[in-house]
Amino acid sequence: MAFLPFYIPKQKQLKVVIVGGGYAGMAAMTALFRYAPDCKITVIDPCSQHIKITHLHETFRYPLSDLQIPFADLAKRFGFRFIQAKLSVDKNNLQQWQIDKQFVLNDEIIDFDYLLITTGCGNKDSDPVENVLSMQDFINNSGSELLSARLAQHSDDSEPVISVIGGGATGIQFLFEVKQFLFRKKIRAKLRLIHSRERVLEQFPPGFHTYVESRLHDLDIEFYPNTYYSNQTSDKIILQDKQTKKEFECRSDLSLLFVGKKQKNIFEANCFGQVTINDSLFKNIFVAGDCSHFNSLGSNSLSAQSAVRKGKLVARNILRHSSVLSLLEPYLHHELGYVVSMGHADAVGWLASEGNVITGLPALTIKELVESQYDLLLMGIDTYLV
Ligand SMILES: Cc1cc2nc3c(=O)[nH]c(=O)nc-3n(C[C@H](O)[C@H](O)[C@H](O)COP(=O)(O)OP(=O)(O)OC[C@H]3O[C@@H](n4cnc5c(N)ncnc54)[C@H](O)[C@@H]3O)c2cc1C
Repeated sequence: MAFLPFYIPKQKQLKVVIVGGGYAGMAAMTALFRYAPDCKITVIDPCSQHIKITHLHETFRYPLSDLQIPFADLAKRFGFRFIQAKLSVDKNNLQQWQIDKQFVLNDEIIDFDYLLITTGCGNKDSDPVENVLSMQDFINNSGSELLSARLAQHSDDSEPVISVIGGGATGIQFLFEVKQFLFRKKIRAKLRLIHSRERVLEQFPPGFHTYVESRLHDLDIEFYPNTYYSNQTSDKIILQDKQTKKEFECRSDLSLLFVGKKQKNIFEANCFGQVTINDSLFKNIFVAGDCSHFNSLGSNSLSAQSAVRKGKLVARNILRHSSVLSLLEPYLHHELGYVVSMGHADAVGWLASEGNVITGLPALTIKELVESQYDLLLMGIDTYLV
């Protein structure tokens, strides 16, 4: 058992329920296991497998199964109970659960001393449409299979046109993977990027969009800035010019939709990660990851990096809150960098300070190092220094 400062366990075996087995949930689970191996942990998630989603765009190169870890395996490794279910979490439920310290799931009463909500914030997916692939499709099937199957349906002799919607980090990572996939498979197809803003990757330093846009040009990927996506029909995409609001259409056989996160069901928390609703503090209910907004100096960005840091912090605070001293640690983590990959051999990112933009292999190496840190965490080896 590793030593956690200010944690002096009481005699009672602690019961912690984690709702959501993504990055924040798994980081919290491993930290609880590390500092309090006798803690009774239950993880609830609707999926049977944890998915290392930050690699999802790589399924144009690797099988999807490489990114999936059955919760049953993790449960065995870390000694927790896994329940495959979707729990309805809202403010009213949380209020009741804080009083009851229990809830009913699949006709079973689940008791807890502490409840941790790490349900993420979901993607802004639309209803399934023919000739449109969205994030959920890529979560269920590998990119290479999905694209091959769609392109095989293209019957006439013309060059198929693929439209990627969304010039944020996810859209850009998928776009370059698609380009390289087409090249590797010697498939002739036209690729275009549709983005609602003037520049791609606008939330990052200017070096990001300058680099990415120059690569778009080099690789002959058509770029439509300031353009909204409206619809994809059997062979056309309907777009709208942001300034003039005029609709226009272009030839398109397939659209890949990466239009961002829902940003709903986000719970406010104090600087220790305890949920607050209308100024009431829920001492036994913590939150972490994309579904949380901490009122603290730390970063609330929707990233795996913040999710892992928040997850680890709230696990430590749960233990400390349960202990004799009840001295909690505020969330102060700031992003250490961010790298957006651009296929198997290129990337753009910043490290240490936003002014320090790096590209190419050095950027890619940093991304791989960060990803392998998370892989190690899931094996029970914590290499995170901050
Ligand atoms: C393609 C892609 C690439 C990315 N690349 C990067 C990157 O390079 N770097 C980076 O920092 N971030 C990256 N991100 C963002 C990062 O993945 C997220 O910020 C991170 O996953 C958030 O972790 P989380 O635990 O809060 O939520 P999630 O990882 O989304 O996990 C939420 C979990 O909760 C479960 N759940 C949802 N609702 C319920 C419910 N009602 N009951 C029970 N369980 C529920 C879900 O099934 C899921 O397992 C990327 C995202 C994508 C999609």
